[in-house]
Amino acid sequence: MIIELRGINKTYYNGAPLHVLKGIDLDIQEGEMVSIMGASGSGKSTLLNILGILDTYDTGTYTLDGQLIQNLSESRAAELRNRMIGFIFQSFNLITFKNAVENVALPLYYQGVKRKIRNAMAMEYLDMVGLAD
Ligand code: ADP
Ligand code: MG
Repeated sequence: MIIELRGINKTYYNGAPLHVLKGIDLDIQEGEMVSIMGASGSGKSTLLNILGILDTYDTGTYTLDGQLIQNLSESRAAELRNRMIGFIFQSFNLITFKNAVENVALPLYYQGVKRKIRNAMAMEYLDMVGLAD
């Protein structure tokens, strides 16, 4: 199992406590394609932020590729996000002073891949989705 959630709870405490995620169990296997559906305000983004290690949960366990995602330092969380997670935001969060290929190549920069190689890899992937031009 690549993603394994057991009894995940999450409450927001700004204002009256809002218990958004109530004992969520979820298993996702490698290669599986999953969509999460639900009414606006039902907690989809809250769950995705936890899966993407962008936010923390209160109780339960989240295991990603066998590693318990809990009490991580910010740098360890960043390393796991860089290596394990691709996140496409509703607002694109592209870096405006970088061009398309540089935006795509950015995670490779943080992995220490040299410029020529990372730009070539980024171009290859842009080409795959018909965005080479
Ligand atoms: P969805 O993505 O399914 O529309 P969200 O996860 O964004 O739902 O929100 C679930 C509930 O939690 C909503 O009632 C929302 O107003 C509330 N909520 C979301 N983020 C926060 C936050 N940072 N602080 C307080 N309440 C929040
Ligand atoms: Mg949402």
